[in-house]
Formats: sequence, structure tokens, C-alpha cells
Amino acid sequence: MTNHPEGLCDRCVHHRVIRSGRGSEFLMCGRAKDDRGYMKYPPLPVFRCAGFEESDGGAPPEPSS
Ligand code: SF4
Repeated sequence: MTNHPEGLCDRCVHHRVIRSGRGSEFLMCGRAKDDRGYMKYPPLPVFRCAGFEESDGGAPPEPSS
């Protein structure tokens, strides 16, 4: 486990990384797509989240633009 500024999201299966045309990266919460109780771009770091699900430790989600 790493100490990452994203907090819980860094280890959550629902996190997605969005890369802008300028090369900036943003974290997007995949749960927000189907559940209005979640923010699409949550303020970071997230320390408590009812929707958190630990990822299996595999490769992080690919950035998409
Ligand atoms: S469900 Fe919670 S912990 Fe997971 S990505 Fe969304 S805001 Fe982050």
C-alpha cells in the first residue's frame, strides 16, 4: 500500500483516472455514474466512503481522455 493523496480512492475498484488534453490527471468515481449519492470528482483525499471496495491489487485502471 502506498501513501497516496487520493486516500481511499487509490485502492478502490471504482476509481478511474481521466487525463485531460493538457496532460493533467483527474480521479473520477465510477459509482457516480449510477448513484447520485457519489460525486463524479470527489474532493481528495477521501478518507471515509461507504462505497469503497478494495481493489485486488492488480494494475490500476488505464487513463482515458
Ligand atoms: S466509491 Fe468512494 S472510495 Fe471508491 S472511488 Fe468512489 S469516492 Fe473513491
